[in-house]
Amino acid sequence: MKKHVQKTFEALFALEDIREVLREALPTGPDSGEEQALREGVARVRAILDDLEAGTGAPAVTKIAGTLDIRNREEAYINIQPIQAAGRLTLEGRKALIAYGDGYSTCDACRKPFRLDKITKPPIAAFHEDLARFLNMDMVRVVPGARRGFQAVASTLVEKGDPVIVSALAHYTEFLAVEGAGGVVKEVPVSKENLVTPDAVAAKIEDVRRETGKNPALAMIDHVDYQFGNLHDVAGIAKVAHQYDIPFLLNGAYTVGTMPVDGKAIGADFVVGSGHKSMASPAPSGVLAATAEWAPQVFRTTAM
Ligand SMILES: *Cc1c(COP(=O)(O)O)cnc(C)c1O
Repeated sequence: MKKHVQKTFEALFALEDIREVLREALPTGPDSGEEQALREGVARVRAILDDLEAGTGAPAVTKIAGTLDIRNREEAYINIQPIQAAGRLTLEGRKALIAYGDGYSTCDACRKPFRLDKITKPPIAAFHEDLARFLNMDMVRVVPGARRGFQAVASTLVEKGDPVIVSALAHYTEFLAVEGAGGVVKEVPVSKENLVTPDAVAAKIEDVRRETGKNPALAMIDHVDYQFGNLHDVAGIAKVAHQYDIPFLLNGAYTVGTMPVDGKAIGADFVVGSGHKSMASPAPSGVLAATAEWAPQVFRTTAM
């Protein structure tokens, strides 16, 4: 099978070589040099396809731009890294990447109010609506990574010196978001079973209020943590946070896209997901969802 994989990559690259000739050619059609290049290109694709069909031929192309290896682990091997299954791009996603890789491919259709989530062609606006429904939240934005979602929320809700509840299993990107907003993380310890429990969250909130005289500005808990892969009682935790009037952010970096995540049923004020972790997307990508109550603040546009 490795030969088939190698020849498939070579065929794809050879088709891109043809595409490059077409890109360079004038609308009046290819000149004689370009026609020659097209003929040679097609002949090369044909030869590669013959090898592909027969399972023959030595590798003829091993690098991209002279230095970059071909990444074939999804084709040539069985990738047994369990969490990587959720980051793998879909077939249609790979086709979209071929057709929409150019920098201005979406900007072309951007009209006032110049917002990504308003672009209708390609249907990015409709995608945002689908995504909100998918998470059962009121409004979403796509963001360059889950971390940008944490940052957007922290920079909205956290003032200098404010305590923020996270767990002892929190991801470093949550610490970065709190630090960037000038807040102070307060870590909820885990149980013997390495679970973050609603009771432990309540106890930590009480401690923080006693110590600092302040109510935490935000609670941020991972749906599934990255250290043990345990699923935590986030609905129970959201309930506790709300009893203290603390907004709850669900970090769904591993769960959004791999299992049903119903933001309203959980009681989340914010749901964050990671595109490249669990939404079959290239990096860096992610989603930030909010309730109607919080959307105007966290998705505010410039006041200038
Ligand atoms: C990777 C990861 C993040 C950050 O996601 P990005 O999309 O890379 O910003 C947050 N939380 C957990 C648990 C993660 O594994």
